[in-house]
Amino acid sequence: MRIGFIGLGTMGAPMAARLLAAGFEVTVHNRTREREEPLAALGAKRAASPKACAQERDVVFTMVSDTPDVQAVVIGDHGALEGLADGAVLVDMSTISPATTRRMAAALAQRGVQMLDAPVSGGSEGAKNGTLSIMVGGEAAALELVLPALEHLGRTITHVGPVGSGQVAKAVNQVIIAGTYAAVAEGMALAMAAGIDTEAALKALGGGAAGSWVLANRARNMLAGDYPLGFRTRLHRKDLGIALASARDLGVSMPVAAYVEQLETSLVARGFGDEDMSNVARIVREQAGLK
Ligand code: NAP
Repeated sequence: MRIGFIGLGTMGAPMAARLLAAGFEVTVHNRTREREEPLAALGAKRAASPKACAQERDVVFTMVSDTPDVQAVVIGDHGALEGLADGAVLVDMSTISPATTRRMAAALAQRGVQMLDAPVSGGSEGAKNGTLSIMVGGEAAALELVLPALEHLGRTITHVGPVGSGQVAKAVNQVIIAGTYAAVAEGMALAMAAGIDTEAALKALGGGAAGSWVLANRARNMLAGDYPLGFRTRLHRKDLGIALASARDLGVSMPVAAYVEQLETSLVARGFGDEDMSNVARIVREQAGLK
């Protein structure tokens, strides 16, 4: 399978590296071209544009930031669509709007290109280790074609339904983790203020009903007041924006998600948007008067 990979950020770079390590022929493109260099050192070919990255490829992956960014690299000038051959599959693994995904899929279908939305959960650790949870929307036959590659990126690969469904599942995921991060931050502030042995508490909690990925992987950073990436706060805020817009249209009230989105708006405004989203603890600690 000849693969094109567009977007070599926190997630895309380790994912492209895994595909190279698995033996696939991979061509990469990144807007900031220097970011292609480490992948080229691992054997990737470099392409000067998304269009060039898509030429003579069976499958093209995109892993960029937001809805307009996917539109730019897929249907924009010199976008992947201009290079994709009839019968190729475009797999967008970014987290973006389900409605725009459906519109792009329709535009691609007119050119004989199938689109899968395949957003992921599992963080930068999951991208490095190939343990992502991948939520796929689109035709089952297209998924079958790309599965040999996806199997090197994720441990749980779920066909959720027609195109757009993967993005809806991802929005649900982001709503759930919003509440979890906020609750873990509050719990850690309480533990700190009370002065208990936080390491012992984490061990006890991890084995019980409060156990979660966030507790296991982010609580210690919250306790240390150190928020290395991870997942940028501004990207999670973007995801909550997508979820809250859908919820509003559907008449679903989501006060917890709306509250966390407001906290993240404050963090972004104060210049903390590129920290990990565990920095919600920054606000919780400030409110508790904890250093
Ligand atoms: P990131 O580190 O900020 O990287 C973003 C990538 O998108 C970079 O390669 C950037 O290129 C590219 N990009 C952004 N806008 C572009 C545009 N208009 N045209 C071309 N390229 C553009 O983000 P990330 O953490 O890898 O996240 C990527 C996607 O995965 C997002 O949708 C995010 O919500 C999702 N996600 C992230 C995580 C996580 O833990 N990080 C987990 C699950 C899902 P430059 O290098 O030129 O800036």
